[in-house]
Amino acid sequence: MRVHLTATAAAAVRRGHPWVYRDGIASAGGHPGHRGARAPRPAAAATAASGEVVDLSAEGAPFLGRGLWDEGSPIAVRVFQRAQAPLDERAIAGRLERAFALRDGWFAGRDTTAYRLCNGEGDRVPSLVIDRYDRAAVVRLDGGALAPWLDRLLPHLARALGARGVRSIGLRAQGDAEGKKLAHLHGPPLPERLFVREMGVAMEVDLARGQKTGAFLDQRDNRARVRALAAGRRRVLNLFSYAGGFSVAAALGGAGRVTSVDSASAAHANAQRTFRENGVDPAAHEFVTADVFDFLEKARARGDRYDLVISDPPSFAPSERAKPRALGAYRRLHTAVARVLEPGGVLCAASCSSHITAEDFLATLDDATLERDDLRVRAIHGQPEDHPTLPAWWEGRYLKFVVLE
Ligand code: SAH
Repeated sequence: MRVHLTATAAAAVRRGHPWVYRDGIASAGGHPGHRGARAPRPAAAATAASGEVVDLSAEGAPFLGRGLWDEGSPIAVRVFQRAQAPLDERAIAGRLERAFALRDGWFAGRDTTAYRLCNGEGDRVPSLVIDRYDRAAVVRLDGGALAPWLDRLLPHLARALGARGVRSIGLRAQGDAEGKKLAHLHGPPLPERLFVREMGVAMEVDLARGQKTGAFLDQRDNRARVRALAAGRRRVLNLFSYAGGFSVAAALGGAGRVTSVDSASAAHANAQRTFRENGVDPAAHEFVTADVFDFLEKARARGDRYDLVISDPPSFAPSERAKPRALGAYRRLHTAVARVLEPGGVLCAASCSSHITAEDFLATLDDATLERDDLRVRAIHGQPEDHPTLPAWWEGRYLKFVVLE
């Protein structure tokens, strides 16, 4: 099918933005390269099936690029290339091999067995995310564009990943009756839980029921930073602690006592097994199952103060529309956090919403919000190299990790 874009959408594609939204389509129809192609139809009448290769055109540009159609998502086309070269499984397999080879280099000698093998758009394979957890790999598809390709891509994946020691491949799916969100694609059955290594630290990952594809791999470098920041800190508070990644980092870094707060008790069970696996006695630390806002209110009232606080909440702004409310929520959270931060303490505040820019986020950490003027922005970090983005794909740069001291 040929898809004719509006001027705005065409300009985005030229910049290398990998998404065409439905309202970026001026008209669609006909088969590219097919003599006697049918006349274009209005976008609403476009009838391609998900996964179909579409050619993009625009005013003055008979061929603008090539991508895959997605019937069911607000993103109608995932743009794979500007070149007129074939877009087939060999082309995709070639890009995957490149992505995997880069990781071989990036993670060589780092005692790390869990990382993102392919970051979709950022690795020029739009909508395909693959995370490695030691001998298992978990595939996640965003939208439906690549779903019909999966069977054809699987032999390539099995070969390329098998050569790197990955035995089993699973697919992140909707939860079943038992809450399991993992479907088997290839190899021996995937373990429900396993230990991986992250820069020398053991970490238990819940592949079957965990968040994301099992763990928050995007915080790897920030966990290492917390480990360094924790040296000599008496009391550390990890808010929204999930499986305790920042908590164990702080404990191994030399923190006296680490308090982890999360509303999910199953996450604390993960965290405690991770502590033990690293030779740290969880009994010397504190795991609180509670709402973070309630916890902070009570901690302040008790007069509890912390030398290092990490706050990494779930995305408060899933959409542009949710942004004003999200900024309000970050402000309330940061005001409450600042009240339990010891003078001289360090605050690490994270946001994983792409709709919140770094400047937006910093505004929720300003003096008025924190009700104090003794802190400075020591560093602003983002996501690690295995979560690459494209210059034009700003949506891919979602993670902010601000260190105030
Ligand atoms: N910092 C973690 C990831 C956090 S994910 C890491 O690096 O691995 C967000 C976590 O916040 C989830 O575990 C979820 O259970 C928890 N959560 C969400 N809302 C909460 C709330 N209001 N109070 C406490 N925990 C909450």
